[in-house]
Amino acid sequence: MLREQIVARGITDPRVIGAFRAMPRDLFVPPNLRASAWEDRPLPLERGQTISQPFIVALMTELLRLKPDDLVLEIGTGSGYQTAILARLARWVFSAELEPSLAASAALRLHDLGLTNVDVQAGDGLTLFRHAGPFDAILSAAAPLTIPEELISQLAEGGRCIIPVGAADQQHLYLIEKIGGEQTRRRLDPVRFVPLR
Ligand code: SAH
Repeated sequence: MLREQIVARGITDPRVIGAFRAMPRDLFVPPNLRASAWEDRPLPLERGQTISQPFIVALMTELLRLKPDDLVLEIGTGSGYQTAILARLARWVFSAELEPSLAASAALRLHDLGLTNVDVQAGDGLTLFRHAGPFDAILSAAAPLTIPEELISQLAEGGRCIIPVGAADQQHLYLIEKIGGEQTRRRLDPVRFVPLR
């Protein structure tokens, strides 16, 4: 998976590659799908949600340029796979998941993996951890129709936000950065994520 899906497509950051090597995707996949854990596609989770495609997880992580001291906000914990990767690269990850059953099982899984720098809570990621910010990095795994100002206001100076934006068949990743009090917004690759609710 690392060689054919991630490195071959241009992911070069050694810290990101190291985090993938340390975090087996099969631990995050429902038991009946374990045999598919290394395939190049998203996989279904309970309640109609999905565990993201490995390359997209890697791409979004690399674009965040995480430093060991960074405070991170994640929206849409899902299986906790992306959360675990982020936790290997940053100081602390706050992760919000709207579906309580997914939040509970991801929190348990991350705890069992020995990751002690994550806080997974059930609720709406746009507001749930506002008190804990501002954040050096924000990653959303669910797509709103437009960039939510509510979220961007939680970015620290120098902060980066990576988020899919748009309706299902016309989504793109956006990278939003706050530099010198100003915002820059770049539209990147076409993607397909579940809607932000
Ligand atoms: N990166 C995850 C992908 C999860 S899919 C993985 O690889 O497993 C996106 C998740 O976002 C879904 O579980 C969905 O329930 C959640 N979600 C949607 N809207 C949300 C919101 N407003 N706040 C928090 N989570 C939300």
